[in-house]
Amino acid sequence: MVLVLVMQTDAPFWDSLGFEGIDDVDAEAVTAAFGTVEVVARGWVAEAECPDCGRISDRVHDRYQRRLKDLPLAEQGFVIRLTVRRFICGSAGCPRRTFAEPFSRLAAPHARFTTRLNHALERVRLALAGQAAPGWPPRWAPAREE
Ligand SMILES: [Zn+2]
Repeated sequence: MVLVLVMQTDAPFWDSLGFEGIDDVDAEAVTAAFGTVEVVARGWVAEAECPDCGRISDRVHDRYQRRLKDLPLAEQGFVIRLTVRRFICGSAGCPRRTFAEPFSRLAAPHARFTTRLNHALERVRLALAGQAAPGWPPRWAPAREE
């Protein structure tokens, strides 16, 4: 599924925005202010699987918010404010009492950037490494594994 967000303001530079390959979040609201576009999003699935015991739970313990930076859009900063639900495992033999919705395609656990921004930053890093001055790396440097 591709999420399509339609701006209701007079910002002409975008009318839709796709999170390709991310099928577990819904966008609830989009605001644009102070050079930053903010998307309020949350997961829509009713249940999640405990990472320790694999039991499926639909008992929500609580919710918290994660702020994720995404790729800039038309020179605007782009932030996703993601509401994450914490589920109760409830399995007697499981050491884990609660666990958070994974959102594995959007961002790694505890990440501050979305996965695609991470990939973009990695490409920038590689590009900069490729433009290093002649004679770099120095001969005494250990060979890097690619
Ligand atoms: Zn469990």
